[in-house]
Amino acid sequence: MDLQYDVIIIGAGPAGMTAAVYASRAGLKTAMLEKAAPGGKMIKTFEIQNWPGIKEINGADLAYQMFEHSTHFGAEYLYGDVEKIIDGPIKQVVCADGQIYTAPAVIIATGTRERLLGIPNEKELTGKGVSYCAVCDGSFFRDQPVTVIGGGNSALEESLYLTQFASEVHIVIRRDVFRAEPIIQQAIEQNPKIDIIRSHVPVEILEQEGKVGGIVLKNVHDGQRMKLETKAVFPYIGADPCTEFAQDLGILDERGYILVNNNMETARAGIYGVGDVTAKTLRQVVTAANDGAIAAQQAFHQIKQ
Ligand code: NAP
Repeated sequence: MDLQYDVIIIGAGPAGMTAAVYASRAGLKTAMLEKAAPGGKMIKTFEIQNWPGIKEINGADLAYQMFEHSTHFGAEYLYGDVEKIIDGPIKQVVCADGQIYTAPAVIIATGTRERLLGIPNEKELTGKGVSYCAVCDGSFFRDQPVTVIGGGNSALEESLYLTQFASEVHIVIRRDVFRAEPIIQQAIEQNPKIDIIRSHVPVEILEQEGKVGGIVLKNVHDGQRMKLETKAVFPYIGADPCTEFAQDLGILDERGYILVNNNMETARAGIYGVGDVTAKTLRQVVTAANDGAIAAQQAFHQIKQ
């Protein structure tokens, strides 16, 4: 049986949940499809300090508040692992379990997924010291040395979080400068628990009794290798867009991000892209929310015209 809506939102991060607030509040029959927990990357973020009106909030708390808000005006929250979208005046959103949802407007808000290092033992030791979520797993490594790979906002913010537990936090960056914002860099440089290893890349994670025991790093200039004792490795080396299901629609750029105009419209009428999954320069909770609001309002005009 097809389930019919005015708007289907794929993904329940800040972009999708904001779209749900705006669409349902405008009276549209709205469904959000999500295959994991609502909140997106917010759930994995310790502290958010740039959501206007709240100086500092735990990511999971903000996610929970947004989720409650997103369903408050009648939007339905449904489990759905989307496999493809069949375009037409009424779009069909096909899920892995065979369920099909239909709507004239589809808002894609699927965000990004963490990139893997692609080095030996990374996969084998995932959950045994290799983790992509410091907020989820950091407290397991109380008084032990841990290593974060990457120099962007995520890597540095999560490194600061890890200093609460770890005896020492090594940050490994491949250049000699960070990519993160200066305010976070300053906090990192002032923290006595943090050790910055510049111009190195990880080449192998070492196993010890079935868990992470260390990591081998290579100097990018002279190729020299060094062994670092560590009980955990947290790769934060960026992310790729979750758009496999949209590959045939002709709405992606060469990296897989969704191309949208100022109204969040893609090249396909009635299909919108919002949040981190779109080709944009600033990926923040506030810019995701902005996109969601605009797309929902556009969908409203599309449907009510
Ligand atoms: P990012 O900004 O793309 O940074 C990725 C980091 O990983 C860079 O330091 C990069 O090095 C390094 N890297 C990439 N591939 C690597 C490899 N194979 N080996 C070693 N290092 C590698 O990613 P992100 O930190 O996940 O952030 C993603 C987006 O979310 C960004 O737009 C960011 O601003 C945003 N964000 C914002 C906040 C905030 O504002 N509070 C928090 C989190 C994320 P290079 O610099 O040498 O390329």
